[in-house]
Amino acid sequence: MDRNGFQSAIHNQQSPIENQKSKTKNQCPICHGSGWARAEVEGTVRRCECRITLRIEQLLANARIPARYRNCEIDTYMPLNQSQKNAKMLARKFLENYPPLDEKGRGLLFIGSCGVGKTHLAVSLLKHVIMQKGDSGLFYDFRDLLREIQSTWNSVSQTSELEILRPVMDAKVLVLDELGANKPTAWVRDTVAHIINSRYNERKVTIFTSNFLDNPAKAGEETLTDRIDARLRSRLYEMCHTIEIKGDDFRQEVEKASFRF
Ligand code: ADP
Repeated sequence: MDRNGFQSAIHNQQSPIENQKSKTKNQCPICHGSGWARAEVEGTVRRCECRITLRIEQLLANARIPARYRNCEIDTYMPLNQSQKNAKMLARKFLENYPPLDEKGRGLLFIGSCGVGKTHLAVSLLKHVIMQKGDSGLFYDFRDLLREIQSTWNSVSQTSELEILRPVMDAKVLVLDELGANKPTAWVRDTVAHIINSRYNERKVTIFTSNFLDNPAKAGEETLTDRIDARLRSRLYEMCHTIEIKGDDFRQEVEKASFRF
């Protein structure tokens, strides 16, 4: 830094008193920075709203939700057919029953062709759980997860460093988007299965989306089982409610509609 730069840096620094003043200015008017506020029952305290808001902001920032899905809400999902109405209704039901108590309710699998709103609904659920329940959540594209498992491969121990994937294991709700988009090698598939199993055993919710169907309309198209292997598919049957969403790509539908105007 040159001399002028140095002097202007000094000039821009706040004095300790000014610094304290601006801290006070940013402090919460209810708890004045202590994090505790008076509760309704005389003589007791409760966590201040500002700390709850801060925690939710941090959870959302850590959830890795892609920017283009950040505004997705269940309410903004506009069903265009009966299967989409059904998907929206089941998504709402999932939230009503959250945290799920029954074994199968611990997971959801949205399947359907591209652009029918599977990720939209999955992200809406993730956001809702973070914001309304204060639970931790994480969004992962399946291909990114495979890449990270591969990059953590330790050739000496011949295992994957699962510690690096700890957030994927620990998040109360995980959205695993585009299941089957890449075909994993056997050991990567085993690692994915291990992650999914341990999440299930620890009563954590995993929400999957996949473009691969169990019974594709066109002969010769690959099924979800072809992409992720029969054992993992059958595990998903056990732990997830499968919600099939039918329809055309929403973006193309919107484009077509805007041409009509
Ligand atoms: P998929 O995961 O099924 O491929 P997306 O959830 O990525 O589809 O949807 C593509 C885009 O279209 C997203 O921006 C999403 O918000 C929007 N979208 C899809 N379906 C609907 C719908 N029924 N109502 C509102 N927006 C939708």
